[in-house]
Amino acid sequence: MRKITCNCEQTFTADLPDEVDLDQSPDTVQSINEGTFLSCICPACGAELHTDLETRVVWPSRSMKLVLVPELSRFAVLSGRYEAAEGYDLVVGYAELADRVTVYRDGLDPLAVEALKFHLVQKALESSPESAPIISFEGVDADSNLVFHVHGLRDSEIAVMKVPEKLYQTVYGSVTAKPDEEPHSLLRNGAYLSVQNLAFGGSDND
Ligand SMILES: [Zn+2]
Repeated sequence: MRKITCNCEQTFTADLPDEVDLDQSPDTVQSINEGTFLSCICPACGAELHTDLETRVVWPSRSMKLVLVPELSRFAVLSGRYEAAEGYDLVVGYAELADRVTVYRDGLDPLAVEALKFHLVQKALESSPESAPIISFEGVDADSNLVFHVHGLRDSEIAVMKVPEKLYQTVYGSVTAKPDEEPHSLLRNGAYLSVQNLAFGGSDND
């Protein structure tokens, strides 16, 4: 049971897990994807609340060990002040959890996917230099393309970008062969592997 405070100021306890094992609970993969994981209904006003409470999400058969960190703690993670449990990677906010679980579901390498996002951010910034693109991985389509959504290019529009599997394999090969080379080496900051490390923690931002 976890304590939740609704926007209506009602505080209540909800039956939400603080740890989930996706091998034991395979349906949770889909509920994470659909956005219903960690949701509950406020008993006072009936609102559906989508939370991002700190939660451990493990998938032993895929060697995945994640801690979902609330979006409110993003700055603590980026500045290296968030205490990560030994052996766990951090994902910040619900969207990053859904994204990373999809990467593992599709048998992809998280570092290679973040490296691809870095290239897509560069590309998006070339065409709209004033934008602040946020890129999410959505899955693999029927033609084996990796599908990404790009938010923040124009108001509320979402651009779809597809990356052929062949390009993914090339990037995978290069991050695996040279993990210490930039920009790949900058994608990981302690337990936090994300293109966000480059967007916010770049060399001239310190
Ligand atoms: Zn409420």
